Amino acid sequence: MGAKKPAKPNAGGVAESEYSFAVNLMQFLVVPTFVLDAEGKVLIWNKACERLTGVPANEVLGTREHWSAFYDSPRPCLADLVVQNRMAEVATLYVSHDDSTGQAFGVHAENWCVMPRLGTELYLAIDAGPIYDVDGQLLAVVETLRDMSSQKKAQTQLEFLATCDGLTGIANRRSFDEKLSAEWRRECRDSLPLALIMIDVDHFKLFNDTYGHQMGDKCLRKISEILTEAVRRPSDLVARYGGEEFALILPSIDMEGAEIVASRIRDGIARLAIVHSSGEGGQVTVSIGIATAFPRKGMKQESLLLSADNALYSAKRNGRNRIVSQRVEEESPNAQTS
Ligand code: GH3
Ligand code: MG
Ligand code: MG
Repeated sequence: MGAKKPAKPNAGGVAESEYSFAVNLMQFLVVPTFVLDAEGKVLIWNKACERLTGVPANEVLGTREHWSAFYDSPRPCLADLVVQNRMAEVATLYVSHDDSTGQAFGVHAENWCVMPRLGTELYLAIDAGPIYDVDGQLLAVVETLRDMSSQKKAQTQLEFLATCDGLTGIANRRSFDEKLSAEWRRECRDSLPLALIMIDVDHFKLFNDTYGHQMGDKCLRKISEILTEAVRRPSDLVARYGGEEFALILPSIDMEGAEIVASRIRDGIARLAIVHSSGEGGQVTVSIGIATAFPRKGMKQESLLLSADNALYSAKRNGRNRIVSQRVEEESPNAQTS
């Protein structure tokens, strides 16, 4: 590789020939590997590491510039954190990590790396393990790398398929059900309100019949964008409940808050001005049912869904293109129309 011969660390009595053999072995190992000495300088940068990074060994041997093979600005690699005993930073510097084996045996982490020399991002699985001499002094840290990009992309794709709606890209019914159960339990525990908004596109069968299914699909995608824009907090969930029905889960929000979101949705859809000859004002409209509750022991999660459904039904019955809200705890629900 035309590289400088690695300086032998003080390995405590290892014969020169054994040391050369070990270095040679590592150079030709099929696993991309580099080794830092106790001062964090590159001691070995094997052939597989050259292939993985596109960086030849002679550019990094004897330097602390190995980060530049993976990232476009200086930052520690996993081996640096082991050398410098900065394990607490692994969690913030890597997208995933596992140090359950204990620092003495090394650490595993995973990260998206920009790979400046290759010009293409790779998702790398990284292991860094320390090597000590007989007196327990750190001699070196070995970092091995595995390109997991295709597996990671496949996993991301699978997660998307399992949790998102294929047509609109927003959460699917399954995510909705899981989130609703989780939030119901949380608000019950923390004595906070929970709001559910159900949205149904008005006269959508007629829209499909008039403009075709493809235009119908496009309309559903546009509406899902409006819904996504209408929520402001990461804890809110926008889901396709089924067909032309959507649902929003708004944790820690009371009726007034939910009505503001619902108004934003109605205004947003009015701004879309999607032509629908059978719709009110000649354009697509939606009916919205809101239910809010203070979940508490003995109260059923289904009551929130039922209330939102009832409110939506009232909105339809009262002429569509309107918002109806209902509080779950009320003995005899007194629906309010706006
Ligand atoms: P209402 O105002 O009472 O809600 O009337 P509606 O016509 O919207 O309600 P209905 O339940 O009769 O029809 C819903 C329509 O939604 C029927 C179906 O073709 C359409 N739909 C459901 N899912 C999709 C979809 O993924 N794409 C398209 N283009 N249309 C869909
Ligand atoms: Mg419907
Ligand atoms: Mg409808």
